[in-house]
Amino acid sequence: MEIITIPCLQDNFAYLLICNKTKQAAVVDPSEAAPVKTTVEEHGVELTTILNTHHHWDHVDGNKELSEYFPNLSIYGHDSDRGRIPGQTEFLKSGDEVCFGEQTGSFLHNPGHTSGAITYVFGKFAFTGDTMFAAGCGRLFEGTAAQMHDSLNLQIGSLADETELYFGHEYTEANLRFALSVEAGNTEIEKKLTTVRALRAEGRFSTPTTLAEERKTNPFLRCTSTEIHSTLQTKDPKQDLAEKMVFKTLRELKDKF
Ligand SMILES: [Zn+2]
Repeated sequence: MEIITIPCLQDNFAYLLICNKTKQAAVVDPSEAAPVKTTVEEHGVELTTILNTHHHWDHVDGNKELSEYFPNLSIYGHDSDRGRIPGQTEFLKSGDEVCFGEQTGSFLHNPGHTSGAITYVFGKFAFTGDTMFAAGCGRLFEGTAAQMHDSLNLQIGSLADETELYFGHEYTEANLRFALSVEAGNTEIEKKLTTVRALRAEGRFSTPTTLAEERKTNPFLRCTSTEIHSTLQTKDPKQDLAEKMVFKTLRELKDKF
């Protein structure tokens, strides 16, 4: 399977997934139709499928126009997003497969950012939408910090270290600056910030990341870090150091960062 990153809107990413055997393709989170059409045509593939990670407009706004232009598209989303994802045809429930061309994938249900948020998994590739970003996570619109903690640490965190994570927004530089603010002694974060600044200066993108890198640099996967604990206790001596409470405080601090 080949993956093409399609920058959309201001800082969104859609991804074109191409089945090399059949030249059929799926697009993850088409926030707008035009750049997706162009990419499909450039690669000479047949778009058969849309994979929406959640219902927010900046992940689904291209659905309607794409389904008029490319007939009979399968449009996947979580079952609980019924009525919220334009043109949805596939309503994913626990254990369901996700298919296009000769590719078969699965999904993780990740409540937190929204109640129907999912991550699509095809072998070593995962598409996390707004649940997990490089060095960060999505805001809590429809879920609790405890749910988001589990979505990141127990669900996505159960994937293999070498898993490549393709996320929904280019927020990496700001996320790494926040990560350093709570864990200033983490040299892995500093190294990654230097790399990402160089990439961005050249107009390139920081997607994908890997789970191994995230375990080292993403504060939301590092709720047991003693340095993060001492940062939070400096801000509030009564800070509860249970993992989910650390996660909750980090998310609140990031909201104000
Ligand atoms: Zn969103």
